[in-house]
Amino acid sequence: MAHYSFTFPPMGGGLYLVLCVLVAIWAANRGRSGLRWFLIGLVISPLLAGIFVWVLKNLDRSIMDGEISDGTHVRCPECREFILKEAKKCKHCGSQVLPPFPNHKNE
Ligand SMILES: [Zn+2]
Repeated sequence: MAHYSFTFPPMGGGLYLVLCVLVAIWAANRGRSGLRWFLIGLVISPLLAGIFVWVLKNLDRSIMDGEISDGTHVRCPECREFILKEAKKCKHCGSQVLPPFPNHKNE
């Protein structure tokens, strides 16, 4: 009759692990280390780890949309990865890249 007293705590046992795995999968989908985030979730809490992944994801997106795309970076014409504007060679695919404004300077 009283079998279920310790088998279903809200944040214990299986559910905790499942949440850690979900955070790890989510982090891996964001290009991060799934294993690392799984361990972080285990050590602190999967909910906190999930919040961190979410915040980091937003940081990444703001970098992709802002800083990198129109600031100091351009897209490689060959592989479409972001590379430094001054780069002569793409670090991703190794192809030669000609800067759009060679030696352009504002006095
Ligand atoms: Zn490239």
